[in-house]
Amino acid sequence: GLLKGGRARPSVFAQMSARALAHDALNLGQGFPDDPPPVAVAEAAIEAIRQGRNQYPPGIGEAGLREAIAEHQSRFYGLSWDPADEVLVTTGATEALAATILALVEPGDEVITLEPFYDQYAAIIALAGGIHRTVPVTSSTDAGSGDLVLDVSPEALRGAFSERTRLVLVNTPHNPTGMMLPAESLQAIVDEAVRHDALIATDEVYEHLTFGAAHQPIAALPGAQDRTVSISSAGKTFSVTGWKIGWITARAELITAITGVKQWLTYSSGAPFQPAVAVGLGMPRSAFQELAADLRERRDLLTDGLREIGFRVSVPAAGYFTVADAGPLGEPAADALAERLPTEAGVVAIPLSAFYRDGDAGEASAYLRMAFCKSRATIEQALEQLDAWA
Ligand code: PMP
Ligand code: GLN
Repeated sequence: GLLKGGRARPSVFAQMSARALAHDALNLGQGFPDDPPPVAVAEAAIEAIRQGRNQYPPGIGEAGLREAIAEHQSRFYGLSWDPADEVLVTTGATEALAATILALVEPGDEVITLEPFYDQYAAIIALAGGIHRTVPVTSSTDAGSGDLVLDVSPEALRGAFSERTRLVLVNTPHNPTGMMLPAESLQAIVDEAVRHDALIATDEVYEHLTFGAAHQPIAALPGAQDRTVSISSAGKTFSVTGWKIGWITARAELITAITGVKQWLTYSSGAPFQPAVAVGLGMPRSAFQELAADLRERRDLLTDGLREIGFRVSVPAAGYFTVADAGPLGEPAADALAERLPTEAGVVAIPLSAFYRDGDAGEASAYLRMAFCKSRATIEQALEQLDAWA
């Protein structure tokens, strides 16, 4: 019917942002930053509009941005891509994911994701007529720190693959946990994909927002580059989630197939933002590190504060979010808690169940995801209100 099996419902992020507005609550739900973009990036967009770069750009993206994407992949990861036919500019990582899955997955093909996963994955796999298989990301708790330690069991991974597996979709750094998959898990995924001649798509939108160890792109692992579609976005790195500029790197045949779908989705993507994102991608390494260091301070502010209030907190290694267990506060059901928090504490958070296929977070059902990509003032105020509530 018209509702396409419930996929026409607003996403959990849209619902929770609406609750924040309705109750005038602080929004630690949806992951968008309070910060402005780097000045040079913002100025480049304004200048591009003044210069009249306001009409349809090439469907595959402005040449200057495609070159900047290829150069960035080479500088940070040693990966070499031809900007002429191995790079595609998209309308955010969202369109990149949708066009990739719609291009590569035929009805009845199996697609593996890790679980928990970013909610869009399940919706697009369903739109493509694919069959969604999940592999649990096991998250043991480090006894010393209380942090989550992600792992993918080789047995569970092997069990998820079959002769119908077309695509395995990976996300590292990982939303919602803020953790990075260990290189051994990534290599195990590559090895299984090779064994079953499956493709890999990898969502790496948090690649630059790391707080210790550097990001490991799966395409740089042995055997991976030819079968991997790497997806990223300007939104998180440069604090421009509303610009909706993302990109894909993959071998030419895959880019051609994905471009074929992209042309029917959006045809092309935000003209004046493309030269601005090229400026961002060309920043020196130290400028990327400053962005992450600044975010790291707010991570610490939120995680330290939540721990003092009594949550059991996992300190994330990357990204926008921490996950906090409300069990020690006598709140074992994060779903119900997330419903009450906007009115009881004036704070919006996302229950981890939103990232599970059947809405059952199992052992993580007391966890809330909270965003720290917000201003210090917002985080301090939210902590004060949560402390008064707890
Ligand atoms: N993938 C992940 C893991 C995300 O968290 C998000 C959004 N925050 C996206 C994709 C979508 O990215 P974009 O805003 O560039 O469309
Ligand atoms: N990726 C953002 C998050 O996880 C939300 C983006 C959206 O609302 N679709 O919060």
